[in-house]
Amino acid sequence: MPETTRASRNYLSLVVNGRYIKNFQLTKAVIAGYGSKLMVGRYPMGVINIEMDAALVDVNVHPTKAEVRLSKEDQLSHLLSEAIRTRLAKENLIPDALDNLPKRERYDLDQLELTLNKISPKTMPSVQPQQGQQLRENTTTNLADTAAEEPTPAPTSPDLEIGDLDDQPIFKEPQRLAAWDQRYQRLASNVVPTLVADEPEPDISHVESAERFPNLTYLAQVHGTYLLAESGDGLYILDQHAAQERVNYEYYRQAIGEVSNDQQHLLVPIVLDYSAADAISIRDHRDVLESVGLYLEDFGQNSFVVEHHPTWFKAGQEEDTIKEMVDWVLRDGRMTVAAFREKTAIMMSCKRAIKANHHLDDRQARALLQKLPECENPFNCPHGRPVLVHFSNTDLEKMFKRIQDSHESGEMQA
Ligand SMILES: [Zn+2]
Repeated sequence: MPETTRASRNYLSLVVNGRYIKNFQLTKAVIAGYGSKLMVGRYPMGVINIEMDAALVDVNVHPTKAEVRLSKEDQLSHLLSEAIRTRLAKENLIPDALDNLPKRERYDLDQLELTLNKISPKTMPSVQPQQGQQLRENTTTNLADTAAEEPTPAPTSPDLEIGDLDDQPIFKEPQRLAAWDQRYQRLASNVVPTLVADEPEPDISHVESAERFPNLTYLAQVHGTYLLAESGDGLYILDQHAAQERVNYEYYRQAIGEVSNDQQHLLVPIVLDYSAADAISIRDHRDVLESVGLYLEDFGQNSFVVEHHPTWFKAGQEEDTIKEMVDWVLRDGRMTVAAFREKTAIMMSCKRAIKANHHLDDRQARALLQKLPECENPFNCPHGRPVLVHFSNTDLEKMFKRIQDSHESGEMQA
């Protein structure tokens, strides 16, 4: 699951027709399926077991035969990303506040690492769940069925059985998943409006509250940084910056995807000077810059002039914003339009989000809580940090010794 991660890709294993393989593109596809649910620089752990027509696999590429060549690699990659994305979209990914404490998490990860090291690649597909946090995205895909296969809902896949998830503390309400599915499809095309205090709020009153997301009642703000909220199943603490970053991000991702001719003219054009090499690189990447509505016109040998910019730029920060975006393509010469748009959306959502130590009034706090469940992924900020953590009623009762913990004897001593 997205909250159990490692700093390298090496904990992600691919098995094709029972053989442990390495394939960079498929690994990338798995990570892409997680999207912003992963922290920046963190990678998922797990075993992806793929069964496909043997005729599509050429094992003779690398002497160790770990690197195989696959026909239809692109389709398979797409299928993998979509299957993981669809599956994760169904989950309530709010970390339990107590599980999230570093002490306990380290314990779980060490145990899991030990388990992984002991297992030889051959036996990996049949790894049985151990205690503690587990990753079970064991996505089985039959490539022969590519054309017919839609990303399948969980209940039909034996490895992703919903009932199977019952014992995991974070999935508290599997019965709500079906309701969420319906809602998710309705909302997929909706734009989530930004929450900025000085802008009028568009009317979105007809969007139902999310079923997988708790119905939060705002309680209070802490240190101008966190929001406290309650629902029937416990207490929630939200990071207000992460929450608003998420709301903004989904808005900008949409706005940036639809490059409109809606441009703001600058009273004073911005002139940017670069080295000769950088100027060449900028000219090479004009298409990427223009994909989000950024137009750099030649202005002498190594200089450019910008006369207008997309309307979603933040007033007063136009020049810094443009320079930052140009830097991205200078630093990564192979940046794709998709990656550039994604970075732009994250940057804008951060620039426009309320910062820590900023006191919201009750109305603003409530508005934020109301917009959050409308997000496609209300659980993480675009950088992958959690938006909210949950103290379940049981957690609270345990903390105050209102109930005895009879069957988890080992964990309650601290
Ligand atoms: Zn963030």
